[in-house]
Amino acid sequence: ALEIRGVSKTFGRFPALRDVSLRARDKEFLALLGPSGSGKTTLLRVLAGLETPDAGEVRFGGEDFLALPVRRRRVGMVFQHYALFRHMTVAQNIAFGLSVRRGAERPSRDEIAERVRRLLGLVQLEGYEGRYPSQLSGGQRQRVALARALAIEPRMLLLDEPFGALDAQVRRGLRRWLRELHDRAGVTTVFVTHDQEEALDLADRVAILRDGELVQLGTPNEVYEHPADPFVFDFLGAAC
Ligand code: ATP
Repeated sequence: ALEIRGVSKTFGRFPALRDVSLRARDKEFLALLGPSGSGKTTLLRVLAGLETPDAGEVRFGGEDFLALPVRRRRVGMVFQHYALFRHMTVAQNIAFGLSVRRGAERPSRDEIAERVRRLLGLVQLEGYEGRYPSQLSGGQRQRVALARALAIEPRMLLLDEPFGALDAQVRRGLRRWLRELHDRAGVTTVFVTHDQEEALDLADRVAILRDGELVQLGTPNEVYEHPADPFVFDFLGAAC
C-alpha cells in the first residue's frame, strides 16, 4: 500500500500542502482532483522525489519512501508537457531509462530491444519505433511518454495531467485506454487532474484537494453521492 501521513509543504510562507494523509492500495488507480493551486502537483512531486516535504511520512510497500533515492523508488512519470527527446526515435526514447543504466543493472541490447517491442505493443504503436516525435500526433507522443515511463518497470506511475494539452475528443478516447494500460501493467497509479469527469470516470478512488488540504477521499460513487462539504458538491457538480 501507499501511505501518505501528515505531509506538509510550504513555499516561502505559502502552504501548498497542509497535513495531507491518505492511503492507496497496491495497484489502485488514485486520482488527485482539485482546482488550480490546490496542491496536486506538489503532492505528486513529493512522491517523485522532486520535492522534499517539510513534515510527514510516505511509506510504500512497507518502505520509507522519502528516504529512498529517486532511482530506487522506481516511479514512472508523465507530465502534461513531457518533452520527448526530439533527436531520438520513438524506440530510443522508450529505451532511454534503460540505456543510461550502468554495470550489472543495464540490460543487454537484445533485452532492451525486446522490451521496447513489448512496450510498443502495450501502447499500440507497433511500427512507429523509427519515427521521431515531430512525426507523431499529440496523443501518440503521450503514449510514447507512457511507454517510456513503463520501461523501467515502475512500481508506481505518476501522471500529471498527461492528456491536458490534447483536445477533448482525443482526451476522452485515451481515458479508457489509460485505464486498461494501468490494469495490464499492474502498477499503482496516481493521476493528477482538475477535470472532474476524467477523475470520476477513471479512478478507483478520488482524493479531492482544496488549498493544500485533503477534503475527501472515496470511490467516484461515494464522493459523487455523498460530497463531504459544499465545496466538493459544487466542484463535482460542475462535471455533470
Ligand atoms: P495546477 O492544477 O494549477 O497545476 P496544483 O493543484 O497542481 O495546480 P500545485 O502546483 O501543487 O497546485 O501548487 C500549489 C500551490 O503551491 C500553488 O499556489 C503554487 O503557486 C505553489 N507552488 C508550487 N510550487 C511552488 C514553488 N516551487 N515555489 C513557490 N510556490 C509554489
